[in-house]
Amino acid sequence: MTATLNIPVETNTAEVERIFNLQKANQFKVANTTARERIAKLDKLHKAVLKYRPEIKDALYKDFRKHPSEVDLTEVYPVTSEIKHAKKDIRRWMRNHKVATPLALMGSSSYIKYEPKGVVLIIAPWNFPLNLTFGPLVCAIAAGNTVMIKPSEQTPHISNLMAKMISEIFNENEIAMVQGGVPTSTALLNLPFNHIFFTGAPSIGKIVMAAAAKHLTSVTLELGGKSPTIIDESANIDMAARRIAWGKFINNGQICIAPDYIFVHENKKQAFIDKVRSYLETFFSEDPSKTTSYARMVNNRHYQRVKGYFEDALDKGANIEAGGKFDGNQDYISPTVVTNVSKNSTLMTEEIFGPVLPVYGFTKIDEVIDEINSREKPLALYIYSSKKKNINHILDNTRAGGSCINHNAVHFFNTNLPFGGSNNSGIGKGHGWYGFEAFSNARGVFTQHIPNALEMLMPPYNDFKQKLIDFTIKYF
Ligand code: NAD
Repeated sequence: MTATLNIPVETNTAEVERIFNLQKANQFKVANTTARERIAKLDKLHKAVLKYRPEIKDALYKDFRKHPSEVDLTEVYPVTSEIKHAKKDIRRWMRNHKVATPLALMGSSSYIKYEPKGVVLIIAPWNFPLNLTFGPLVCAIAAGNTVMIKPSEQTPHISNLMAKMISEIFNENEIAMVQGGVPTSTALLNLPFNHIFFTGAPSIGKIVMAAAAKHLTSVTLELGGKSPTIIDESANIDMAARRIAWGKFINNGQICIAPDYIFVHENKKQAFIDKVRSYLETFFSEDPSKTTSYARMVNNRHYQRVKGYFEDALDKGANIEAGGKFDGNQDYISPTVVTNVSKNSTLMTEEIFGPVLPVYGFTKIDEVIDEINSREKPLALYIYSSKKKNINHILDNTRAGGSCINHNAVHFFNTNLPFGGSNNSGIGKGHGWYGFEAFSNARGVFTQHIPNALEMLMPPYNDFKQKLIDFTIKYF
């Protein structure tokens, strides 16, 4: 068995409210910290992540047998790179951003002050627990907020460790982690936070947004969904197969931006499947249950969920092209590729979030585009092609939170890019400047220096003033 569902004790409402009130009382002190002081906080977090790196690896192995190198690549590195980016740019982000003055407002000047939202809440999922908890935290700190964090209850080892790290380096009146599952989350969601940054499933995102609406709290919702991949006839099939075998099966397919299903040109379909099979063997050996490079489903509930999707697809006529091996004693599902999958099977109606990859052939790209557009907007859409015209045609006629051309999932690692979904796959963006912006209010500040034309247009109105207004509308 991998993770025991050792759910941490819920944090009671009184405790949640106590911390919230402490942070509320402290929010202006934190808001008025200088760039240097915020950098010092980021440095503390950076040091703690490096100091506890062995424990982080150990916790994530206990939670879902994640290989230590994969922990470094997909959990530690995204956090350290987010910290480095924030430290490099924070002074520029915090500065007042001057904006132009229209001629009609001559005699004034304007700027945007990015002020902290105040007391913010981060609710994190289990699939990249460190990355998706500390990543948003970096942006919230950079923006000058006090922060309450609720990590996932499904990965108790890493959640306990993160709680220990946070309590060691921060005072609870500036940053605090509260643990628990739905009851704790619900207690938090009852409070009038100034912003909620939620990462998780679209169905829970709706609960979060409904709770936020009661206080008109702004939200960033980093959600999920089914991310399609298109491989056209011009694509380098060997490269596509290698990158997809990596992007789909890393973290045992439990990635919000995993290629969920594939459309490959009919003429290249068999070659693609053969290559994926071959790379799966290269990456994870003939028997992936024996290699340490292959993680597990996070718990038996998720193992049963994906097994159910797979069996439903088989019942509806799917063929197994690779894998298809299951072992409930260790929540193990071998890297699996399936074809002839009915669009009505749960494998295609639900986000898979596991190591099963449906592959479809196509001949007409516009049919693929129509199919994708008939579904909810995905978090990511991937295109493998060597033809700029095809790439642009797909980009122009589909919608997605983000895209990679000739790769998958790696757009997450470029913190200069906004990361997030669109509608069903999310609202708002994170990473780098976009994360700072999410945790800030863009306060527009207008200063009048000398009297301007508006002074002449105040009541009582008369024909002359109307002429001036007409002139203004026409020429300014
Ligand atoms: P989840 O939505 O079940 O849980 C996320 C968080 O919400 C957890 O902390 C959980 O305790 C809390 N929660 C669960 N039910 C709740 C409820 N009824 N009320 C209040 N809070 C509740 O998601 P998960 O299973 O942890 O993660 C998987 C999902 O997250 C997938 O859909 C995946 O695509 C998505 N995801 C998105 C991103 C992204 O960046 N867009 C990243 C990772 C995962």
